Amino acid sequence: MSLFNHQVLQVALPLPLRKLFDYLYIAPTDIIDISNKPQQGQRVIVPFGRQTLVGTVINITDKSEYPIEKLKPIIALIENETSFTSEQLNLLLWAAEYYKHPIGEVFSAALPGVLRENKTIGQLAPQRLTLSQKHNVDKKIPKNAKQLHKLLSLLSEQSYTRSELTNKDMKSTSIKRFVDEGWANWKTSSIYIKPVTADDITGQLSLNTEQAIAVSAINSSSNNNNLPRCFLLDGVTGSGKTEVYLQAIEHILLKQQQVLVCVPEIGLTPQTISRFKQRFNLDVELWHSGMTDKQRFNTWYKARSGQAKIVIATRSGVFLPFASLGMIVIDEEHDASFKQQEGFKYHCRSLALYRAKVANIPVILGSATPSLETLQNALVGKFHHLELKSRAAGSQLPAMKLLDLNQCRVDSGIGEPLLEKVKSCLAAGQQVMLFINRRGFAPVLMCEECRWLTECSRCSSYTTFHKSKNQLICHHCGDQQPTIHQCKGCGSTRLSTVGVGTEQLHLALQDAIPDYPVIRLDRDSTSKKGEFEAILEQINQGNPSIVVGTQMVAKGHHFPNVSLVGVVDVDGSLFSSDFRAPEKLAQLIVQVSGRAGRGSIKGEVWLQTKFPEHPVIQDLINNKYSDFASFALTEREMLNLPPYSHQALIRAEATNENYASQWLQSISPHLSQFADLLVLGPSPAPMMKKAGKYRHMLTIQCKSRPYLHKVVDWLIENLDSVQKDNRIRWSIDIDPLDL
Ligand code: ADP
Ligand code: ZN
Ligand code: ZN
Repeated sequence: MSLFNHQVLQVALPLPLRKLFDYLYIAPTDIIDISNKPQQGQRVIVPFGRQTLVGTVINITDKSEYPIEKLKPIIALIENETSFTSEQLNLLLWAAEYYKHPIGEVFSAALPGVLRENKTIGQLAPQRLTLSQKHNVDKKIPKNAKQLHKLLSLLSEQSYTRSELTNKDMKSTSIKRFVDEGWANWKTSSIYIKPVTADDITGQLSLNTEQAIAVSAINSSSNNNNLPRCFLLDGVTGSGKTEVYLQAIEHILLKQQQVLVCVPEIGLTPQTISRFKQRFNLDVELWHSGMTDKQRFNTWYKARSGQAKIVIATRSGVFLPFASLGMIVIDEEHDASFKQQEGFKYHCRSLALYRAKVANIPVILGSATPSLETLQNALVGKFHHLELKSRAAGSQLPAMKLLDLNQCRVDSGIGEPLLEKVKSCLAAGQQVMLFINRRGFAPVLMCEECRWLTECSRCSSYTTFHKSKNQLICHHCGDQQPTIHQCKGCGSTRLSTVGVGTEQLHLALQDAIPDYPVIRLDRDSTSKKGEFEAILEQINQGNPSIVVGTQMVAKGHHFPNVSLVGVVDVDGSLFSSDFRAPEKLAQLIVQVSGRAGRGSIKGEVWLQTKFPEHPVIQDLINNKYSDFASFALTEREMLNLPPYSHQALIRAEATNENYASQWLQSISPHLSQFADLLVLGPSPAPMMKKAGKYRHMLTIQCKSRPYLHKVVDWLIENLDSVQKDNRIRWSIDIDPLDL
């Protein structure tokens, strides 16, 4: 074999291995086809054992640590074009290194599913109906065939995909006629992208002073390279953050650039999406896991070609290609769903900040309850802190009240004074929202005789009683069992429920207040297509009613007629081993409260607790979130906890109860060679047994991030050689959020 024309391709393959694989590329000798030379970011098919895999070329060199003649040649380059932009390549290489995740899995996660296989972008690209004989068609169409003339005039301007034509009310028979007559044909040609003009944008509100200051700070940063490019938009609920995004986005669009807007969960933000579509008469695309592979490919393709002007996406949108990205917005930046907890454990916000820095574009992090990490960055001047302190539409922030559950009668989880308050709001024609963080009827069934509790056989947790399904369901592993009628401990039939879930609260309220509708909003009541929209629609009508819900009610909705919000179970998260628990509780309470009094009536928020003296509760009742946050930051600093230090978590799990903890135990001594490192654990995970696996963890904490990364690199290099054990599955989580 002549090796004169060879190149070594270092390829990322979708395997759980932290390495690249060397393959040989031998250029064809007879033709000199420059366009077909391998490039970084191009997909290739390679042999791997007995399989063939689709990988991505990461580096091209002429050397390998293996003898060149032993390297296998690639099977083929999939296509001439690269599948990743250079901006993406840079981001993904950084992400794999930062999160210490196998590089091939990182690259594969960033591709739409259809491109993880051997298909070309050209094959998949949306076909566009393109006019073939512009000049004569006009005369051939009968005069009275209005629709055909309309189609002709559309196609004379540009080509269209089938769905775009359907949206323009074109019948498929008209389209077929054009194709059959040879007047037009389907092509994958790229289209002319019309420049955005001021006419494409309508309905701007006139900004209040705080909003105007924010918008102008953001806009001027993109005109001036020397100003900071990261903005914390710290605005109380209802302060008009969305209007600030919209007007900052407008500025970017008029510079003919694109914008990425990341939101926690797309299913929960239909109102936000429709506000974007109303404001911009432009191509606004969505990206989330509920879409089909084909829909996702289309968004990917349109972002990459520059056709999509705005993409509204959940966390993985941060990996999308853009022809010309001009700004990233992270709405509700504190929300934990920006962190992927399984597999490739990345944080969308961290990646967005890196991406924006490299691209030198502004990034806006918006929240009414910023994460302590972000607030700390604002405090030290890394982020520009923009504040919106009052509500935009003139409504006032709600008043906070404590209801001490030790002092009143409680029925089905509701204290009597709260029930009375609910009744009086309804009588006044207003809506009420009651928040409880648990689905189902009751957290657990208990035996009255021996106090035995129903528990999951695969997890160290109790099963939740769902009365309507007559099942005991584990909310951690999803296991479903028919309800039991006899105690498994003593055989007694005297079983009763303990605690309250949405389902029970719903039934109890229907009994207590039969004259008004009680609407349940949780994952169970919205599992079928359209149910969520129907419930939102019902609430939006504004008729006096009670909404009982989980987290879902907390996020971003704007229901003007809700005057009372009750947080039914504050106490569930007061005594947690997680140092982030107070932050999460404070954010949740403020977000839920934010649903109250958004219209003309001043709202009230009631917190029910058995621990009215608890400092977090006192802080939230008497002060603002910002006071809570600065107190919490001081405490974190004293204890040297994040964001004043950095953490990596090593998780290990095994089917045998002791293996994982013993394995982690045996690693600890090796870590003593690193000074300046705090090693915590090993300790059992908060839920030690989950889905039949026993889970333990080891936290390493360090002031210096580079040093922490050095230690983790050492661990990855050595864990398998020092401490090889096939019975253990381990993973690393950088900047862990949930234990
Ligand atoms: P946030 O996202 O901060 O919770 P929103 O952007 O949803 O707040 O705004 C709350 C309400 O205030 C919306 O109904 C919005 O239309 C209105 N609003 C925002 N800015 C203005 C403004 N400058 N003038 C009048 N109304 C505004
Ligand atoms: Zn379970
Ligand atoms: Zn019993």
